[in-house]
Amino acid sequence: MKIISSVHVLSVFLSRLSKKDTLGFVPTMGALHQGHVSLVKKSLHQNSLSLCSIFVNPTQFNNKSDLKNYPNRLEEDIKLLKEIGCDILFTPSIKEIYPDGLPKKEYDFGRLDKVMEGANRPGHFNGVAMVVSRLFEIIQPQRAYFGKKDIQQLAIIRCLAAQKFKNIEIVPCCTLREKDGLAMSSRNLLLGKRYRAAAPRIYQRLLSVQKRSKNNSVSELRVWMKDVFEKDRDLVLEYFEIADAKSLNKSNNWSDSPIHVACLAVHAGTTRLIDNILLEIN
Ligand code: AMP
Repeated sequence: MKIISSVHVLSVFLSRLSKKDTLGFVPTMGALHQGHVSLVKKSLHQNSLSLCSIFVNPTQFNNKSDLKNYPNRLEEDIKLLKEIGCDILFTPSIKEIYPDGLPKKEYDFGRLDKVMEGANRPGHFNGVAMVVSRLFEIIQPQRAYFGKKDIQQLAIIRCLAAQKFKNIEIVPCCTLREKDGLAMSSRNLLLGKRYRAAAPRIYQRLLSVQKRSKNNSVSELRVWMKDVFEKDRDLVLEYFEIADAKSLNKSNNWSDSPIHVACLAVHAGTTRLIDNILLEIN
């Protein structure tokens, strides 16, 4: 595996690829787990070359301590990527990505970045769009891989690609979970024993919502979820939304859309976790 930290070196390397090569790109913030691995494996399967980037992007953190505490496990990440046969690892510094300092660019995603994560983490998706745009410009992949665990991020990236990167295919990838149902996340490393034990309740409650969606209205489920979390001593609900799975517009009735998605953000101690589940009503 080639490990490159410089934009210039990477650009020279990529410019020498054969015209027959297809390049798959998996952007990450490191502390890799099997969820990330599944994205890289999908890229390896669909492309002749695969590039994974590890860059903890400061412009997408709206909380300084979240950025400071974000896990860093580069040695283990390199070992894992080598084992699965990733071709290139790109590990740029902040200066390489933002040579002129942190940019102030504003993107327009309509309503998409005004709800859920967008409403609760001001500036987050603008920062995501900034770094992904920069990485797409440098790497110019044929395909880029994003997880459905971050369903709103996936929608934002699709919108960004439709606006600015029409030649890049955005490939959605399924959420990988621990045996107890907890969605894999780099942030799970930050959960102590107590909160790690509590965290699987998040997915259990999403599964309950899925089950209850057959016999309950959207508003009944909103109330139900709020009540369940209010009784939980270890998990604090930041938001719970049921939305159209495509537009992510808030659903008022099941008849609003054929497929809805239930999304939430939860605080387990100082760690913020997100998850979602599709609700197909027929
Ligand atoms: P991150 O390093 O958290 O920025 O994630 C990098 C990519 O991996 C994003 O596209 C995420 O949506 C995806 N990802 C994160 N967790 C999972 C998971 N449990 N299953 C599948 N993909 C994931």
